[in-house]
Amino acid sequence: MIVVRNLEKRYPTPQGEITVLHSISFTVEPEASVAIVGPSGSGKTTLLGLMAGLDLPSAGEVRLLDEDIFSLTEEERARFRANHIGFVFQTFHLLSSLTALENVQVPLELAEPGDTNLLSRKEGDEWARELLERVGLGNRMKHYPSQLSGGEQQRVALARAFANRPRILFADEPTGNLDRETGNQVVALLEELNRAAETTLVLVTHDLALAGRADSRIHLDGGRVQSDGEGVRRDRGGVPTR
Ligand code: ADP
Ligand code: MG
Repeated sequence: MIVVRNLEKRYPTPQGEITVLHSISFTVEPEASVAIVGPSGSGKTTLLGLMAGLDLPSAGEVRLLDEDIFSLTEEERARFRANHIGFVFQTFHLLSSLTALENVQVPLELAEPGDTNLLSRKEGDEWARELLERVGLGNRMKHYPSQLSGGEQQRVALARAFANRPRILFADEPTGNLDRETGNQVVALLEELNRAAETTLVLVTHDLALAGRADSRIHLDGGRVQSDGEGVRRDRGGVPTR
């Protein structure tokens, strides 16, 4: 369960303070998926960063799994993310000096004694390999990011995002740098992994067809929620139903 309450973000600028998010409130049920849609500059990435506890709000509250994340210290928040949260970014964010397999293992190596996702080296190695198999990259484990296509890099990033068995997955335009067909493959995998892992999914997307596949939609414009987004049409674009 995710609760966002009266969330605000303001930035000081030389021209004066600007408000990027105006008192945003909504909830997301456990294991549900929500798409955040809206024009460029409407505050989607800012909202996602706050919801994931990567950034601090000017006002308001975010509760993830019953935890008030802004009442935690920076270090506690980092532990919380390492234990419960996965991310997928538009630009993949793989570490170029690590192989596909090593990239997927990074979140596992960040686990500390007492963490829910702590695995032995052997278990972690097997789990990372299994995830890469599941995204169809069993034959690319030793490749470096520069030796992979964009779609393959994003599939590695998906495998990495699920490595710590997150309860909540945040994805910011995960298909934004991919052609439509490759994007559709990545989305199909994202949905499959999400279903199998019973993860709550928060997805930022420009793609209305993709947004239409989520359980609900938040429509942002100028940093305000326009509606709960019902009525986003499913029949534009071309994400295939499997
Ligand atoms: P979106 O992801 O919907 O394209 P963003 O959340 O990235 O939008 O940005 C929303 C608005 O906030 C934009 O107008 C952007 O210029 C502004 N903004 C983002 N980060 C900063 C910052 N660090 N300082 C000032 N303004 C910012
Ligand atoms: Mg953005």
